[in-house]
Amino acid sequence: MAYVITAACIDVKDRACVDVCPVDCIYEGDNQLFIHPDECIDCGACEPECPVNAIFPEEDVPADQKAFIAKNRDVFGSDTPPGRPKK
Ligand code: SF4
Repeated sequence: MAYVITAACIDVKDRACVDVCPVDCIYEGDNQLFIHPDECIDCGACEPECPVNAIFPEEDVPADQKAFIAKNRDVFGSDTPPGRPKK
């Protein structure tokens, strides 16, 4: 289980979540942030920090956002994986 960043982050990338993640497992892609599913320790610190409510525990991701569970995982295996967030 991991936390998942969904569509509301697209083109917002507020990055407030980045500052509170104790294990630095939130990365930045072209148009949204992603949580590395194997590095996330499920602490929940990021969820209330997001101003657009884009972050959910995996089991609570809304039905119309379920594709983002795979997206947050698969993006790290892509040719252009997300990098360290830019401040
Ligand atoms: Fe980081 Fe905790 Fe959020 Fe996982 S749940 S991304 S460890 S702040």
